[in-house]
Amino acid sequence: MSKSHTNFKMTLIEGSKYLKDNIVQDRKDEKKFICLPCKQSYKSQPIWFNNLKEHLNSNKHKKTADELGEEEALKEAILYLEKKGFLNLKRMKTTMLKKKKRKLKTKKK
Ligand SMILES: [Zn+2]
Repeated sequence: MSKSHTNFKMTLIEGSKYLKDNIVQDRKDEKKFICLPCKQSYKSQPIWFNNLKEHLNSNKHKKTADELGEEEALKEAILYLEKKGFLNLKRMKTTMLKKKKRKLKTKKK
């Protein structure tokens, strides 16, 4: 299971102000991030980077955004991740392997 975890991607985080302000890489594990508002509110532990979008969508995290008046910024950040294809990170790999070009030879006379 753990081999499918992806590394923290700074370039992805830097593309969104909300993410940049709230998400930092875990210094001990490059595959994990620390969610600053959740760390402050819940003493939340580092989370797999793969689960970033899932975490932002969680009620726990949404509550922190509500408290900071950043619901809109959070929604935008989630949309941004979707646009970047974050959801399909794992799927992309497998479909690329399965993709085969099929050449159909048709004879016409
Ligand atoms: Zn959080």
